[in-house]
Amino acid sequence: MSHRTPAPAPHNAKPAKAAAPEAVKPSNFLRQIIEQDLAKATYATRHWGGSPGDAAHHAAGQPDPAKIRTRFPPEPNGYLHIGHAKSICLNFGLARDYGGVCHLRFDDTNPEKEDVEYVNSIIDAVKWLGFDWTANGNAHLYQASDYFDFMYRAAEYLIEAGHAYVDEQTVEQIRINRGDFGKPGVDSPFRARTPAENLARFREMRDHQHEDGSMVLRAKIDMASPNINLRDPAIYRIRRATHHNTGDKWCIYPMYTFAHPIEDALENITHSICTLEFEDQRPFYDWLMERLTEGGLLSAPPPHQYEFARLNLTYVVTSKRKLAQLVYDHKVSGWDDPRMPTIVGLRRRGYTPEALQLFAERIGVTKSDSWIDYSTLEGCLREMLDSTATRAMAVLDPVKLVLTNWDEVMGAGTLDDCSAPIHPHHPELGKRAFKIGKEVWIDRTDFEETPPKGFFRLFPGNKVRLKYGHVIECSGCTKDADGKITEVLASLIPDTKSGTPGSDAVKVKGVITWVAVADGLPVEVRMYDRLFIEAQPDAGGKDFIEGLNPNSLKVVTAFVEPSLVAAKADEKFQFERHGYFVADRVDHSGTKPVFNLAVGLKDSWGK
Ligand code: ATP
Ligand code: MG
Repeated sequence: MSHRTPAPAPHNAKPAKAAAPEAVKPSNFLRQIIEQDLAKATYATRHWGGSPGDAAHHAAGQPDPAKIRTRFPPEPNGYLHIGHAKSICLNFGLARDYGGVCHLRFDDTNPEKEDVEYVNSIIDAVKWLGFDWTANGNAHLYQASDYFDFMYRAAEYLIEAGHAYVDEQTVEQIRINRGDFGKPGVDSPFRARTPAENLARFREMRDHQHEDGSMVLRAKIDMASPNINLRDPAIYRIRRATHHNTGDKWCIYPMYTFAHPIEDALENITHSICTLEFEDQRPFYDWLMERLTEGGLLSAPPPHQYEFARLNLTYVVTSKRKLAQLVYDHKVSGWDDPRMPTIVGLRRRGYTPEALQLFAERIGVTKSDSWIDYSTLEGCLREMLDSTATRAMAVLDPVKLVLTNWDEVMGAGTLDDCSAPIHPHHPELGKRAFKIGKEVWIDRTDFEETPPKGFFRLFPGNKVRLKYGHVIECSGCTKDADGKITEVLASLIPDTKSGTPGSDAVKVKGVITWVAVADGLPVEVRMYDRLFIEAQPDAGGKDFIEGLNPNSLKVVTAFVEPSLVAAKADEKFQFERHGYFVADRVDHSGTKPVFNLAVGLKDSWGK
């Protein structure tokens, strides 16, 4: 698979904004469609009125400076997740690569569920991912509810042209009369009403004269269509609800399938990209666009809908509703819990915009549903952090190692200076400094009283190197009354310190990491694991809560080298031999350092 190899970034460099367009991008069916449209000049005659609007508004404007227009249209009813990141990278990425513009549009036509908290979080997420909706002096940030007036006008036009009628059947009658795959639908007794009657009724609906659910406006298409979506779909319903933008102005609201194509057309969108579930809606999308362009309400040529496979990622759920349940049932600490597949959660876990962009690019876009393994996402993070993260030593499960001959060899109370590169591939970044002394912390798993086969680290009689320090020879350990190891004992071998002449005269098979007791910093480390044990937690209607991993968080007190006293929130590190960690953006401070495990050094899950 072709993908981008990350360029080494300088230490502490600010992450680049949206990844620069590459010379050769892997093609996909959407790129091919856009390239064909550009070659055929399909959209070359379009005008842009400077803001969304109807045909007359755009006709009065200049030729559209954007070669294509795409949009990312979230419903502001939750925090965005990794699936949305795919859609954001796709839509904004295509616009960027083809001289176009991508709009951020809040699809807020459903009055009940929206919230400004979500609106703000979506704005932050798109910006953080490195994208911008400002182009040609316009901030293309829109909300669909601003188009309610036009949608109402479009509905009246359809009624007057004989393409829509008010149906007073009950919801149940409508459902039964719609038929099914084997059975054509049955015409509503209200289908033959005159446009004048329908218009009067529709205005009564608008004017609060009918009960919620007592009637709907339906498009008049074909009750025998093999596509059930064309069997006179409902386009407006009565719903007395206060809308966060329009308040109580409306008691009728457009249905999504009617609203969405109109939103696209008003914004001069050319390529309207959505997920595969909407494929069967495309004929209605086209029908509506034909009616409203032939009526002169919307400019031609209208936008077209294209469908791609949504992201299904193993070991997570990607549905705002299910993610909300995890939050409200306190299964996680919030939308930004580092185990959540939300963009805020991934960010807090240590993911960077570059890692998510790389992921979106690597998984590509296809027309058939499939599952992407979670390790693909982790691989992208590991790859980005390997070239950028500052190195540090950390001991996550500490036990004390005592160098029994330190006082004779080095002098009682002496601390010796050690150093290590900040990044092994970037010597220009300089070195980190720390001490070694008589006592150092090592990881408990680096000592075995009786070593299993192939164990090269500390056991009685074996020599190992303390990384960046000396070679030592293990002599045993001390234990408490319960048999728990309290100290590991070793002697230092003189003249073996890393970087000094002749230091490699003594050969060893094992190198271990450590932190001096004298200058090690105690810190909280949150060892995260996957949130679900089940690869497909919600497949087949399963109760996804039952697939939660009970051990997805373990909090430990670790010791880290003193250079980490200066760690800033959000800064990423490689704890040598352990993995990549990030200073927690919420809880970390200089006085109470907190690090999150972002991803291990190797893909070890399930192995
Ligand atoms: P959810 O079920 O999580 O609420 P949604 O599709 O209803 O998801 P929207 O806010 O309506 O969420 O989606 C905004 C855009 O993001 C849509 O264009 C949708 O196609 C896209 N999108 C949502 N989920 C995914 C996914 N898993 N993979 C790719 N694109 C997605
Ligand atoms: Mg939705």
